[in-house]
Amino acid sequence: MERSHTIRQDLATALRAGPATARDLSRAVGISERDVIDHLVHLAKSLRAQREKLVIEPARCLDCGFEFSRREKPARPSHCARCRSSRLTLPQFSIG
Ligand SMILES: [Zn+2]
Repeated sequence: MERSHTIRQDLATALRAGPATARDLSRAVGISERDVIDHLVHLAKSLRAQREKLVIEPARCLDCGFEFSRREKPARPSHCARCRSSRLTLPQFSIG
């Protein structure tokens, strides 16, 4: 409990420094990308309570330009929904 509270504070600190990908945040906080996503879901809820929000710059396909819409769970897609290309930008997160 204590540890995940601290992790979310660390994530918020990293996000306030500027936009970051799950990979950047994973390195900054020292947890796996999968755990970053889980913590971001919870962080988004606590930010709403403080009248802030987690801003998600969605992943985009480098081949056809398709932009992934904001998802309930901001996991990284593996393939373009339109052309199936795997050349995608990573979603970026920030606090706005
Ligand atoms: Zn595409």
